[in-house]
Amino acid sequence: MNESSHNRFVILGPPGAGKGTQGKILAETLGLRHIASGDLVRQHQANETTLGIASQTYYSMGLLVPDVITFQIVLPEVLKAADGFLLDGFPRNIHQAERLDQELKLKNLQVDLTLLITAPEEEIMHRLANRRVCPTCKRVYHKQSAAPVVDNVCDNCQVPLLQRKDDTLDAIKIRMEEYHAQTLPLAQYYRSQNKLMEVSGLGEVQDVLHRILGCLQEYQPSETFANGPGAQQPNLSLSFKKRPV
Ligand SMILES: [Zn+2]
Repeated sequence: MNESSHNRFVILGPPGAGKGTQGKILAETLGLRHIASGDLVRQHQANETTLGIASQTYYSMGLLVPDVITFQIVLPEVLKAADGFLLDGFPRNIHQAERLDQELKLKNLQVDLTLLITAPEEEIMHRLANRRVCPTCKRVYHKQSAAPVVDNVCDNCQVPLLQRKDDTLDAIKIRMEEYHAQTLPLAQYYRSQNKLMEVSGLGEVQDVLHRILGCLQEYQPSETFANGPGAQQPNLSLSFKKRPV
């Protein structure tokens, strides 16, 4: 085992808890490659690869892409970035986690830490139902908390915003069921290995990020921040507004 560095993260959470947003910022802050399985799948679909076409049917119905297809899409990218990654959307069940462990073990590596972003279900439904995405630049908006200047039009691209197919109510229900059936047991899988850190996803993006970085510093005070390839030192005083005491 390579015990000297802690650079291989998994981020978990219910849909809409903000793990995608946090994952991206965190990966950048820690100098890790951000690997979002949903983005990879969408890339394959856009490029109309065999895997992309195979996954399209499942995805457009709000169903999960079968593990066998996911492995072929995600694992090569994980292994390319084995020095430091943050995985978002993969693994999403214990079967996938075990396969990931096996692949990493071949390189004498392991998942170092799993971050579970939590939020109450009511808050999640509210966030997801109001989420809109720009089809061109992929920027994410929320009708209330991050609304565009002109209603339903991207600030950058001036094109109409879309609701993702998996943000419709029926699709959200399926994803919540999947969260209870798959993700929570997965969290337990990592908890039993003493690799789970739970952080509340409530509040503004910067507040949640601040919370996560605080927990990480407690967890691995020097190594987490020092060893990521290209890691930047997070400058808390510049990046974060002071919270009221
Ligand atoms: Zn845009």
